Parts: sequence; structure tokens; C-alpha cells
Amino acid sequence: MNLKLHITKREITHHSTIIKTKYLFSVIDLDRSDQYPQNFVSVLPRKINVTVKPCNIFEELFGNRSLETAKQLLEKALERRPNSETTKAIRHRLKLLNPQLNNKSKCQNCGKPIKQNKQKFRPYKFCYQCHSKGYK
Ligand SMILES: [Zn+2]
Repeated sequence: MNLKLHITKREITHHSTIIKTKYLFSVIDLDRSDQYPQNFVSVLPRKINVTVKPCNIFEELFGNRSLETAKQLLEKALERRPNSETTKAIRHRLKLLNPQLNNKSKCQNCGKPIKQNKQKFRPYKFCYQCHSKGYK
């Protein structure tokens, strides 16, 4: 899979005045095709909750790696230096994905809440007990 984000802008107009700009984030696979929408994989969900059952195609596809994959895709999209509006939309999406990481996230194995270390860039995925059992 060679995943990439396909970001499209949709302007909602009312009497030919733009009243709202929406950004649609789609995940595409360049190995499938370089043509959109033939390479469409799924929509990038606004929020990812890996501790519960998958609730969208994206989570079904990437499971425990959903959050990581989504962030990687967004960061890769930023590296392509989009215009400032798109950058803002991407940053907003990254922020939406973040809250679950920072505070009390749950252990991906046993579901116990984990205290996250704010200094640490990468959040813990497993509680101390599970981690010492070899979950990484
Ligand atoms: Zn645990």
C-alpha cells in the first residue's frame, strides 16, 4: 500500500457567495491507481477511537494502527506544503486526533486507563503491567 491523503475543498455557496469551505480528507492508495476516485480507500475519520470496535472503514482497515496511520498521513500532507488554508485544515484534523492521546487514554490490551507523560512525544499504548508482559 502506498497511502496518501487526497484533500478536496468544497465550497458551499448561497446566492453565489461562499458561506462555508469544507475540506474532505480521503485516503487513497497510489498502488491501486494514480487516478482518483479509483484509488479511494476510505474517508479519513475526524476522530479515532481505537479502544472500541471499529466504527468506520478506516478503523476496520488499520485497527490499532488507525491513529498512527491517520497522523502519519496528515503529517505527510503537511510536508507537501499546501496553501495556508489547507494547512489550517490539516492542523485542525491533527488537533482533533490528539486529545485522546494526551490525557487519560486506555491500554490497548486490557482497557485500563494510562497516565500519559506529557513530556513524551509518543503516547503510551499499554499500561505498565501489559508493557512488562511484552506488549509494545
Ligand atoms: Zn494493560
